[in-house]
Amino acid sequence: MKIKAAVLHEVGGQMQIEYVDLAEPKANEVLVKIVATGVCHTDNLIRQTGMVGIPVVLGHEGAGIIEKVGSDVKGFEEGDHVVLTYVSCETCKYCTTKMPYVCDNYGPLNTSGKMKDGTSRITQNGQEVNVFFGQGSFATYSVVDQSNLIKVDKDVDIAMLGAIGCGFQAGAGTIFGYLDVQPNTSIAIFGLGGVSFSALMAAKIRGCKTIIAVEFNPERLELALELGATHVINWKETEDVVGEIMKITGRGTDYAFDSSGAQSMIDYAIKASGPMGRVALVGGSLGNIEINPMGMMFNNITLGVVNEGAIDPHDFIPQAVQYIKEGKFPIEKLEKFYEFDDLEKAFKDQKEGKTIKPVVRMPI
Ligand SMILES: [Zn+2]
Ligand SMILES: [Zn+2]
Repeated sequence: MKIKAAVLHEVGGQMQIEYVDLAEPKANEVLVKIVATGVCHTDNLIRQTGMVGIPVVLGHEGAGIIEKVGSDVKGFEEGDHVVLTYVSCETCKYCTTKMPYVCDNYGPLNTSGKMKDGTSRITQNGQEVNVFFGQGSFATYSVVDQSNLIKVDKDVDIAMLGAIGCGFQAGAGTIFGYLDVQPNTSIAIFGLGGVSFSALMAAKIRGCKTIIAVEFNPERLELALELGATHVINWKETEDVVGEIMKITGRGTDYAFDSSGAQSMIDYAIKASGPMGRVALVGGSLGNIEINPMGMMFNNITLGVVNEGAIDPHDFIPQAVQYIKEGKFPIEKLEKFYEFDDLEKAFKDQKEGKTIKPVVRMPI
């Protein structure tokens, strides 16, 4: 079938919305009509590095409605509302023990541009077009492997969920999964973007007593207070960020969360950690950072780099949807919708800090 997709023909270039051909789903695959897809910094990383070969259709936070199901697919049917996440092999020791985020085949399945059989379902003028995360959901339709799908409640606006399969999972998932944040504890959250805001909301859900947001944008600090931060620190206007956190917490934080990837923020996160403090780095920056192990030793600090929250999406996404229904996870305060034709504007607005989480709506 002919579909519309945003095709990247040139590393570092602009995506072009064009007609491409989409093949039928194979036995283990499903055809999804995409309703909305979040814009994530990782899409830009792939655009700039060419890590997935071109031509490629980016977009890895799709949400939509199933139109067709392959013959071997179990548990899904036409009309189901689904959130798309990453692909996993479903057979390795990690996939079979609810740890698909460290699947043996995670890299090739999500960044080779191909489906499990090594081919792509999208072609243009007879040439294969790659997809990112096994979905390429900056498109009106997508054929995905069944491992990529999470069924969600039809009561929740499916367009709103077009940001949950990666960005919000990376943030809130880290709180519920990797850090497993406990009630009556303290956390500092460094840099406020979509990922961090979702972490902040999750920390509130977990009953954190002290939630400190560290950021420079006054509007975002204001929103952090509205969403559950108990303290905010504008690092641009604060001489001693670590000292401020110590004043608030006494011996330092139980948890720290950084999505900025910036050396200065990671330094603060480590130095402001208290005894047995745990620091989660979630930002996908490519550069090296420096740490001083000696400075971490006496408090026995653990530093972890986290992929997709280190939580099974089959657990996280339905749970997050439940919290949305209960009004505890108000992601609508972070999202702004854009038309498909305005995809590049959505990226620009995210980069310039005008929009926290852009979500692109597909034409009906
Ligand atoms: Zn696996
Ligand atoms: Zn992402």
